[in-house]
Amino acid sequence: IMQSDQPVTRTGDAPDLFSKFDDMIALRQGLLDSGVDDPFSLVMEKVLSPTRAICNGRDTILLGTYNYMGMTFDPDVVAAGKQALDDFGTGTTGSRVLNGTYQGHKECEDALREFYAMDHAMVFSTGYQANLGIISTIAGKGDYVVLDIDSHASIWDGCAMGNAEIVPFKHNDVSAMEKRLKRIPDDAGKLVVLEGVYSMLGDVAPLKEMVQVAKDAGAMVLVDEAHSMGFIGENGRGVVEDAGVIDDVDLIIGTFSKSVGTVGGFCVSNHPKFEIMRLACRPYVFTASLPPSVVATAATSIRKLMHAKDKRDHLWDNSKRLHKGLTDLGFKLGTDEAQSAIVAVIMPDLEQGAAMWSALLHEGLYVNLARPPATPANMTLLRCSLCAEHSEEEVSTILGMFGRAGKAVGII
Ligand code: PMP
Repeated sequence: IMQSDQPVTRTGDAPDLFSKFDDMIALRQGLLDSGVDDPFSLVMEKVLSPTRAICNGRDTILLGTYNYMGMTFDPDVVAAGKQALDDFGTGTTGSRVLNGTYQGHKECEDALREFYAMDHAMVFSTGYQANLGIISTIAGKGDYVVLDIDSHASIWDGCAMGNAEIVPFKHNDVSAMEKRLKRIPDDAGKLVVLEGVYSMLGDVAPLKEMVQVAKDAGAMVLVDEAHSMGFIGENGRGVVEDAGVIDDVDLIIGTFSKSVGTVGGFCVSNHPKFEIMRLACRPYVFTASLPPSVVATAATSIRKLMHAKDKRDHLWDNSKRLHKGLTDLGFKLGTDEAQSAIVAVIMPDLEQGAAMWSALLHEGLYVNLARPPATPANMTLLRCSLCAEHSEEEVSTILGMFGRAGKAVGII
């Protein structure tokens, strides 16, 4: 973003609507003036595999992609996408309720129903739209949404769009959630929204207790399993499976942009009236459906993820190895032990976080720099997400890079 030296002239007294971003522009400029690379405009010049890309001409290890199961270059998945391009063309040019439902969309929903062993599955164009659509459609004016304060932006936006009463509670705090629920009138519609894994710190929700409390209060429960699908749970169905509550939740939301390795979102449910969402849910109806190649890759990937125990085991090994190695080096992490494939390294402030991010990139390692408002408690984080395709040797290389960069920047 460049600031022009010339003031924008405008007739009348109306303010420049962009002036509300002046603080953000100044913050960004300050960061760039300190000499670091811009952490928010990195270009992947070539992608070599799920774990490597060329960035700034350099071979770079990818440790911030959410590509947990490494499906993006799976030969069967790639072949399914190419075949669908040949057979069905590049796009549907239409909504699911008009001309945008192809055979591939049905097969993708079949794969999801089978993956979760549930009655209904509905595919959205993104996970963001799945949360936006389902939450705003089922929780309307006069209903209450009780949600964790650290919920993803798409959950907050779904609450706002539906115009429900929003009741946030302290992150992962079962008794705070219970207190909030008790204050809501008995006869009001109630939806509790939780996430399996919280993406900023990589911590897991105590779903067993939370789902019980929600059910006791007569609330319906929606769980966003964006960061656990494919990885956590015996069959990769997420934290709901691991916690033994999959049959007690009403709706599961997920995305194709992480373990599945493409783009898209979904909701699965056993609710007998669920199919009406296809007509009532505006972010499903008023947008074009996913391209045939995307749903073909998603369906193939989901079916392979049903039988990916070895990959899941290796991803756990990688996550634990990285967590232990970073702890031993003296970094402060978001959790005491690895709870998911996300390992968050807490930085002292944005300046040192950006300097560390830049130093790692020069070492040949890409991680995510995350800062408020995306992060809880005003934290600056270097978020690492592991991939089942990272080798043990790559994890050792990554730890060496963190050690050198951390010393150079003065964080350890
Ligand atoms: N929910 C959560 C918890 C997420 O972290 C994300 C993406 N980061 C989404 C939903 C949205 O997913 P998508 O990328 O498919 O829009």
